[in-house]
Amino acid sequence: MKLYETSYIKDIRNRYGFRFSKSLGQNFLTDKSIIDEIIEGADIGPEDTVIEIGPGIGVITREAARLAKRVIAVEIDKNLIPILDETLAGLDNVKIINEDILKLDTKQLVSGEKPENIKIMGNLPYYITTPIIMKLLEEGVKAESITIMMQKEVADRIRALPGTKAYGALSVAVQYYCTAEKILDVPRSAFVPQPNVDSAVLRLFMRREKPAALTDEKLFFKCVKAGFSQRRKTLLNSMQVLKGTDRDLIRDSLEAAGIDPARRAETLTIEEFAKIANEVDKRL
Ligand code: SAM
Repeated sequence: MKLYETSYIKDIRNRYGFRFSKSLGQNFLTDKSIIDEIIEGADIGPEDTVIEIGPGIGVITREAARLAKRVIAVEIDKNLIPILDETLAGLDNVKIINEDILKLDTKQLVSGEKPENIKIMGNLPYYITTPIIMKLLEEGVKAESITIMMQKEVADRIRALPGTKAYGALSVAVQYYCTAEKILDVPRSAFVPQPNVDSAVLRLFMRREKPAALTDEKLFFKCVKAGFSQRRKTLLNSMQVLKGTDRDLIRDSLEAAGIDPARRAETLTIEEFAKIANEVDKRL
């Protein structure tokens, strides 16, 4: 029996009394060709350390371990740990950590390794996709790329360009840190149990140089959030929610940045947001 076969998953459920946890986003992959495409997309080499988020019963972990120098798999569900001990038996380059990825210091996991040899990957639980991605990016995780499966709609928002409906604070935040490439679309039929949404796999490449010079990175993200807080409003009106500002300060900053105050956030590039944030910073 193969790990990804539904009969194997059924056997494991019977033997271990394992129940899928909806609240932990447990939808396990059962399509070998999709597992292969994710592994190929992550471009794992013999010098690489892979950090896998949410191994489940280990379908991706096993394949990654064949190619990588080592795999560190972080799984929150303690009920899956004895199962992983069975499914990954004999692979001495895999370390399983029973932890919440959101509480873990990911930088410590791989201290001393070259960022270009660190690949992060995972089939993420839908309910915390954005917090996981933003945690990794904001804490400045050292990695070459992050290859992750997520709800298709979130993948579309991450890759969206200015002037589109999907473009928002998440697009700007992720694109500030990374460039994004779509590896594949995944239908809901590729999982057990089947989720209610379709998925997509993105590979996010960490930028070596940021797309804009900022005088205050935190303020930049606050400006982006403020701009998108009321999408239909003009920047002049939406950005006033920013603490410490008023209408005059926002108008002066926009004009100094060469941005028409009547524009809406969804039309701005990252560079334009950066110019605005730097002008707001001068006036706060
Ligand atoms: N990788 C497996 C696969 O593709 O079949 C399982 C993917 S399943 C969508 C998500 C996995 O992430 C589950 O095993 C779940 O228990 C785990 N998980 C959920 N929240 C987590 C967290 N905060 N930290 C680490 N793992 C988590």
